[in-house]
This record gives sequence, structure tokens and C-alpha cells, in this order.
Amino acid sequence: MSLIPKSHPRVKSLLIRKKLVDGFDNGLVAKEGLLAQGRGEAFDYLLGEKTGKTAKSAIKAAAAQLLLAKMPIISINGNVAALCPKQIILLSKQTKAKLEVNLFYANEKRKTAIIKTLKENGAKEILGTNKKSSTKLLGIDSARRIVDKNGIFAADVVVVPLEDGDRTIALKKAGKKIITFDLNPLSRTSQTANITIVDNITRAIDLLTIESKKLSKKNPKYLKKIVDDFNNKKNLNENVIQIKNNLSRRAKFA
Ligand code: ATP
Ligand code: MG
Repeated sequence: MSLIPKSHPRVKSLLIRKKLVDGFDNGLVAKEGLLAQGRGEAFDYLLGEKTGKTAKSAIKAAAAQLLLAKMPIISINGNVAALCPKQIILLSKQTKAKLEVNLFYANEKRKTAIIKTLKENGAKEILGTNKKSSTKLLGIDSARRIVDKNGIFAADVVVVPLEDGDRTIALKKAGKKIITFDLNPLSRTSQTANITIVDNITRAIDLLTIESKKLSKKNPKYLKKIVDDFNNKKNLNENVIQIKNNLSRRAKFA
């Protein structure tokens, strides 16, 4: 029996890791997805495994941006489907954002498993499943540029959690406003997005849904001010300072 209490962030991290491993065993997660999780865990550890002030302000800006969107969409990959399928669907319902399955490592079998999981968790419409409505983004190689004409391609605001930098850059070039969840404040996705929530998606996603509900009563002018006042670069920089501070506080053996 472990001596660490169940509520300890370390134990929670191990439970999150188990979701990914189960997702891999169930055909949702690619091998590369396990490695991405490992990178995320390292940053989560350095950030103190909790939702910080910077994440909270990014969540508020993201909620306002989603409520202002004409056509918001959430891009789902294997890791997201394995980690928080129920929560992502709740967010989509609260913000009226569509869902699109969009895989970095395209694989029909995995896509089918992800769609099945989303449906089991209450998703009604899932885009990215019909080859006839697929189209291409400019600026990235063939397998990764496929998107749905009625989904990401047409959207004005795109939530791309745990996304690769190449695709985020291509989406930005296509004129989309990008919201991401990414534990690494230095990744290309974090640096390219308009709003980066530097937190574990499993902790932050419900907070975004709650904030979206709270702000849904506010008028567009109020929401726009929240978005305009948010400075992503400054926020990312504060995350890096936080990591530095945590490191110097903990590395007392030096
Ligand atoms: P980039 O391509 O943006 O430069 P990368 O190549 O380092 O980043 P990818 O594997 O392409 O990394 O993207 C996955 C990102 O998701 C990583 O930055 C990783 O830290 C982050 N990540 C992994 N797991 C989680 C999680 N549970 N919550 C939030 N972020 C996560
Ligand atoms: Mg990458």
C-alpha cells in the first residue's frame, strides 16, 4: 500500500497516466501519444501539478473567446479521447462548439475507436468522419492537412488541445483563432496559439466549461474586453518564471 494520500497530485498524475495506457490498449492512443503524455507530465511536475493563476486567466479568456465565436470547433485526438471524453463533450455542449476528430498520425482503425468512445460518452454529431467533406489546409504535408469542410476549415475559433506545432501554425495561417491546452509553455503550439491554457487538460477542462457557463450571461462588449486584455506571450512568460521559481525552491540540495 502506498503511503501517499489519494488526493496527492502525484497519485492523481499516476491515475491520468493509467487513462492513457488504457487508451493505448483500447486502440485510441498512438505510441507517439504516450510520448507526448510523458513530455506533458514532465512540465506538469515542474509546474507543481496544479492549476495556477496564469492558467486561470487563460481559461477566462478562452471562455470569452468561445462565446464570441461564430463557429467554434474542438479538435479531438486520441489522447484527448482517452483522457477526458465526457468533459470535452460537456464543453462542446456548453459553448455550442462542434467536435471534429483530427489525428496527427492518421489511422482509420484508431479513428473508429475514438468516434465510438465519443458516442458512448454522449456526442451526437462528430465531424472529420466523412471523406466526401474533407479538404486540405495549406502549409503542411499531405496526411496531416486533411480537415472537414464543414468543421475546422469553416470555423473561426478552433480549440486544439495537445496539438502538434506544425498543425497549429497551419491553422493560424488559415486565419483561425487558436485556443490550446498545453503543459509546455515553450512548445510551438503554445507559442503560436492566441490563448494557451498551460495546465493538464484533465484539470482545466471542467474549469473552462464552468467559466463558459458563468460568462454566457455577459454581453459581447464585456467578453471582447476580456479577450483584448489577455496577453498570451506575457502569460506564457509567467509560466516559465513559475517553473524557474519551483526549480530553485526545490533544488535545495545544490
Ligand atoms: P510542438 O509540436 O508544439 O512544438 P512537441 O512536438 O514538443 O510540441 P507534441 O507531441 O507535438 O509536442 O504535442 C503535444 C503537447 O501536449 C506537448 O507540448 C505536451 O507537453 C502536451 N501535453 C501532453 N499531455 C498533456 C496533458 N495531459 N495536458 C496538457 N498538455 C499535455
Ligand atoms: Mg510536435
